[in-house]
Parts: sequence; C-alpha cells; structure tokens
Amino acid sequence: MAFRDAQVAVVGGGPVGLMLACEVALHDVPVVVLERLPEIEWRPKAEGITGRAVDIMDRRGLMTGVAETPITPPTAEQRARISAGEKRPDSLHPKAFPGARHFAAMFLLRPESPDLLVPQQLLEEDLGRRAADLGVEVRRGHTVTGFTQDDDGVRLDVDGPDGPYRLETEWLAGCDGGRSTVRKLSGIAFPGTDGITTGYRAFAEIDDHDFHLPGWFRKDAGLLVYEEGPPRFITLEFDGPPENRDAPITPEEFQGALRRLSGTKVTVTEVQKITRFTDNARQAETYRSGRVLLVGDAAHVHSHWSGPGLRLGLGDAVNVGWKLAAVARGRCGEDLLDTYTSERHPIGAQTLEIQRASIALMRPGPHVDALRRVFTELLLRDEANRQLTALVDDLHIGYDMGDPSLTGPLVGRYSPDLLLRRPGGTVRVAELQRTGRPLLLDLAAGPGLRALAEPWSDRVDVVTAECDDAPADALLIRPDGFVAWSTPADPASLPDALTRWFGPPARTA
Ligand SMILES: Cc1cc2nc3c(=O)[nH]c(=O)nc-3n(C[C@H](O)[C@H](O)[C@H](O)COP(=O)(O)OP(=O)(O)OC[C@H]3O[C@@H](n4cnc5c(N)ncnc54)[C@H](O)[C@@H]3O)c2cc1C
Repeated sequence: MAFRDAQVAVVGGGPVGLMLACEVALHDVPVVVLERLPEIEWRPKAEGITGRAVDIMDRRGLMTGVAETPITPPTAEQRARISAGEKRPDSLHPKAFPGARHFAAMFLLRPESPDLLVPQQLLEEDLGRRAADLGVEVRRGHTVTGFTQDDDGVRLDVDGPDGPYRLETEWLAGCDGGRSTVRKLSGIAFPGTDGITTGYRAFAEIDDHDFHLPGWFRKDAGLLVYEEGPPRFITLEFDGPPENRDAPITPEEFQGALRRLSGTKVTVTEVQKITRFTDNARQAETYRSGRVLLVGDAAHVHSHWSGPGLRLGLGDAVNVGWKLAAVARGRCGEDLLDTYTSERHPIGAQTLEIQRASIALMRPGPHVDALRRVFTELLLRDEANRQLTALVDDLHIGYDMGDPSLTGPLVGRYSPDLLLRRPGGTVRVAELQRTGRPLLLDLAAGPGLRALAEPWSDRVDVVTAECDDAPADALLIRPDGFVAWSTPADPASLPDALTRWFGPPARTA
C-alpha cells in the first residue's frame, strides 16, 4: 500500500506511545504519533520507574541526567521492627527506608536495580525530545475517532485542530491508554475483573495538620497515606469502584474519604492536584489483530499499587518496536509480530494476578490482618523477599524462544549489563544497545563467528571484546535485551537464529 502520512501510526502520545514511536524510528521507519491532548497533562500519575524499566531506559540512553534514588537497604533488625509494626492496626510503612519497595504496603528488600523517582511527565518530556530527534512527527490535539483495516493498510479517522481528516498507514499501534478507542474498535475482547476499590491520590491543603500521623496506615475502611510538606495523600477504600470515573472530583468527595479513613472532621481547604483510581484488572485477549497492535495500558489495566503500569508498558514497547520496524521494512514476515503476543501476554497476565493479590492483601479486617502477619513473617526470609521483589520488578521475566539445547542455555533470558574491554577502553552492553540494533557479542568465540554474521552486517552489530564475567563465549542479543542465541550452541546454528529474528540476509557473504 502507498502510505500517505507514515508507515506506522501510533495512537496515543503517553509514555508508551512515545517509547514505541522512538523504537520504530530507530530503524528508519517513518512514524506519526496522534495524541488527543494539546500538551502533557500534569495530574498525579506514576512517580517513578522501577526494576527492569530503569534498565530499559539505560539501554536507550534515556533519563540519563536523572540521579538514581540512593538505596539504603534496611537491616534485618529494622525489617523485624517493621514486621512487628504490621501487627498493630496502624502500621508504619517501610517507605521510611529510602529505596525500599512495597508489595501491598508490606516491606520488600531493595531490588537489584535502583529506582528513578521522577514524575511520569518528566519521562514523557524526555521521550518527546528523543522522538523529535529521531524525526517522529508528534501531532498533538489530534484525536482518533475510528479506523478500518484491510490487507493493504489502515485508514484512520482523525479529529485535528483544523477539523476531521483521514490518515492512511500500513500499521496502527494503539497506545491510547486503558479506555483505548483502538482496542474497542478492533473488536479485541478485554476480559477481566471489575474494581472493588476507590482511591484518590492528591496534593491538597487541610485545615488541621495534626489530623493524623504522617505515614502509611491500615484502617478499618482501607488504607491512608499521609505525607507532610507539601501535604500528599493516598486513600484506598473497599467500597466498590467509583460511580462515575469521569465526574470531576470535588474537594468534598475527597474530604469524605479522608474523614472516613482518619475518623476525624478534617476539612480540605484546597486541592492542587488529584486523581481518582480503582483496581479493575483486564487484559486484551490478544495484542494483535491484523495490522493493529495494542501496547501499554491499551492492552492491560490493573491497580497501580507498587507501580507496574509503566514498567509493563515500556517492556511491551521495546518488545514490539523492533519487530514492527522489521516487518514494516519488509525484512521479516508478519509471524514475527505474533511473538509479541506470545512473549508479552503471559507477562501481562502475571502482573494482573500479582496486582489482584496485592489488593486482596490490603482489604481491611481481621482475616487479612492475620494473612498479612503470615506474609510479613515470610518476607523476613531473604529468599522469599528476593523472589517477590524480582516478581514485582519484572526481573524474573524470560521468554520461551525455542529449544535451548539448539540455541544455547541463555536463550530467552535477559542479557546482563556486562562490562566489556575493547582496545579503546571499556563499554557496557547497555551503552552498545542505545542504537536499538541487535548485538552479537564475540567474547572468545573467534573470527569464524564474525564471518558467519557478516551477511547481516547491515542490521546486526558484531562486537569483539573481553569480559571477566562472560556468561558464554558468544551471545546474540535482541534490541530488547533478550538473548536470542548463545554458545555453547553450535556456531553453525547462528545463521538460523539471525534469520529467525532479523530476517534473511540482504546479500550473501
Ligand atoms: C494515580 C495513578 C498513579 C499511578 N502510579 C503509577 C506508578 O507509581 N508507577 C507506574 O508504573 N504506573 C503508575 N500508574 C500507571 C501509569 O500512569 C500508566 O500505566 C501509564 O500512564 C501507561 O502509559 P500509556 O502510554 O500506556 O497510557 P497513557 O499514559 O494513558 O497514555 C495514553 C495516551 O493516549 C491518548 N489518547 C487516548 N485516546 C486517544 C485517541 N482516541 N486519540 C488520540 N490520543 C488518545 C491520551 O490522551 C494519553 O496521552 C499510575 C496511574 C495513575 C492514574
């Protein structure tokens, strides 16, 4: 099909849409982003990224000016004190310890990777700058209202500042959030569970600053978080989802939640920023329908406790971006795109499970109090603590990418950020991945490997280096950081792996 505006149209210029657009543009595929809002919205959303998402940023050179949050891991003694605190109805939250993570407002060890505690909007600004540098056209104030697709392409109906217009493209990525128009129009089912909670996250002024101790507290009706200077609140009540999620939030509505949870007559005098949220957990049945893909919140929604949303969405974007570019460029067949669903859908499903469990563990009442005591005892054991931390930070993720006996035992696992020595100095794998190109690391395999990969030299970087912690003599790393082939697999199987993931060679060696 002759596309008019761009080969790929991304609907939604939130963090995931911008990330995906950058991922596709890295491979010289023209992308347009259509974003409903004229500018970035500064209502409270994610306050940082954690776990694997920090690594994803590093591997693209994003947010590099932002200092990582210093980590002060609590000692075993402190953890025991926190666990003891959990036995009181008003429990101190371990957030008192910088760098600590929580699951259902219970303490977790610090993860392997540090946090980047920045508002989501700063990330969106950084991604917007990167998108502009990569030549992505971001059209703000453009709302997608409909689309049709056939074998040739996708036709979008767009409402722009100068009126409605039609846009033709080859591929459409719906990154338009939890209430995704693209998902609804695609006919992809969105099964799951309804919310059972209503919560608010707010920066607000109150008339009585002694209304409650600052901290995180379990209450008869749910959870109350209060932090001083400037006053910040999170509330969670188990009284069902909001009646109307689109209704403007009045100070009285929020004040009601504060009064019910604190048991005081506190008055809200001013609300600076506020969001209302619930915990419905739903996932698109498939992430692809023909020429249409769903990415980020458009593909899955769940409660945001412990902050999985951005991490999951950014992981989706780096999984599918290079695949979409390869298919759009005609290098790979469409079946490569099906690996997006087969690899990412199980990860999304697991996140929904974890988030449902976390909501269940925050329910008020003596039975859950008892359950939390059991849980906190378990979490005092390092092994259990580490396992849950890895789970909520996506550090455990691996993909089923074929028979490891043929392609190497590391296949499907995330490549470590190895420090490599080359004649010019040292370099990390993360730095080598900033181009978004696949990487063949030759750490001891010898010149034969480079010769085998030479026919793919237009799209695969081959780096020969020394490494003290080399997990294998050679590794083929996909743009999303996952190992696609490694020794001790027979080097003769490398061309098959290269063809499978990056298409047949452009020319013969
Ligand atoms: C109160 C709150 C706290 C949160 N805290 C955290 C946290 O601590 N950590 C975390 O990881 N996550 C958190 N999240 C979740 C996180 O904000 C989301 O997971 C993240 O924004 C998802 O990014 P996205 O790009 O997929 O979707 P969105 O950010 O929703 O972006 C979708 C974009 O699409 C645009 N759009 C929608 N429809 C159309 C259309 N028809 N045409 C054109 N454009 C359209 C929207 O304007 C929007 O800009 C929180 C969310 C909330 C609400």
